[in-house]
Amino acid sequence: MTLSKRITQVTGGGSDGWDVFYKARRMIDAGIAVTELTIGEHDVRTHPTILSAMHAAAVAGHTGYAEVPGILALREAVAARIQDRTGVATGVENIAITPGGQAGLFAAHHAVCDEGDIALFIDPYYATYPGTIRGVGAVPKPVLARAENQFQLNADDLAAAAVGAKSLLINTPNNPTGAVYSKATLEGIAQVCQDHDLWLISDEVYDTQVWEGAHLSPRALPGMAERTLVVGSMSKSHAMTGSRIGWICGPKDAISHIINLATHTTYGVPGYIQDAALSALNEGAWLEDEVAAPFKRRREIVLEVLQGQTLIKAAPISGAMYAMLDIRATGLNGEDFANRLLQAHHIAVMPGESFGAAAAGHLRIAMTVEDDAFRKALTTLVNFAAAQV
Ligand code: PMP
Repeated sequence: MTLSKRITQVTGGGSDGWDVFYKARRMIDAGIAVTELTIGEHDVRTHPTILSAMHAAAVAGHTGYAEVPGILALREAVAARIQDRTGVATGVENIAITPGGQAGLFAAHHAVCDEGDIALFIDPYYATYPGTIRGVGAVPKPVLARAENQFQLNADDLAAAAVGAKSLLINTPNNPTGAVYSKATLEGIAQVCQDHDLWLISDEVYDTQVWEGAHLSPRALPGMAERTLVVGSMSKSHAMTGSRIGWICGPKDAISHIINLATHTTYGVPGYIQDAALSALNEGAWLEDEVAAPFKRRREIVLEVLQGQTLIKAAPISGAMYAMLDIRATGLNGEDFANRLLQAHHIAVMPGESFGAAAAGHLRIAMTVEDDAFRKALTTLVNFAAAQV
């Protein structure tokens, strides 16, 4: 029996770039203590306040099928939050609740791409992007955001790639680079989207983690609301990664079709999870600030540890929970560096190459271990780099 090309080609074949991660996990299974600076997951769990709300909702009986578009109160809260943050008029008709940002990325591409359409994404990229695009039958095409340009996307590079494309996926604050796109970068992107009639899919799942500059949603730029689908999530903002809760915000017509798709795929998100998400949003900023605080502190630790040496350079750590370190001056590529560091010091980091060509010669450091261990691992990494030259 043959399976569909669409499903067998989701990963595109070849390595998924997570070899160092798997090696580290095997070492841990063998009883070796490894400091893991690999995966983008908080070192705290979901706040008890949110869990209490989840428990109360489940006990009260919100365990049956929930409304597929999302419960009204949550859609209202998400719409209000987006309107407050962006100034763009946003109502429930603009919001579909999804099981996490990942399902939102899939549904958004499904909504705008036909079979064989070219869907642009930015390299360095979050690991699932090309597979998500292939999964809807479209053809992923990377556009490089260069280290030399601090991983900000250059509008001319984008314009050159945009001919004949259907959509563009961007992510700010960015995983893996830590870049926050400037207003100028986003205006350049908006112009190209309008010139080439592209849909913009804007992944804003890190919008509460900004350390430098400000997060600007491109949906707020002139002429963009009608061609932008924003993907949001409670995973990063509220440490709710396992709860699978997020949303898509976009034009009413697109959202109504996305809701139809949900009826035929996910059939919505559990009601007790939605109630918990609503209560989390109603808590306001303190909860988001508490979840973001460790990354803000550890960003300072990175800058401190790198001070006084010139071998390793950090790209601006402007947002999200990652630092992208340029290790090209050591003469090693990211993969060799990461493998050797793991063997020699039991510290696992992600090679930049795992995230695309534009991150070659870099390491992505997830700032997701406790401060002292984090400082120690980084100090070891810097000393290890010095020993290579
Ligand atoms: N986008 C980016 C850039 C991410 O880093 C992640 C998770 N690591 C997601 C989307 C998906 O997150 P979730 O499905 O948990 O909302």
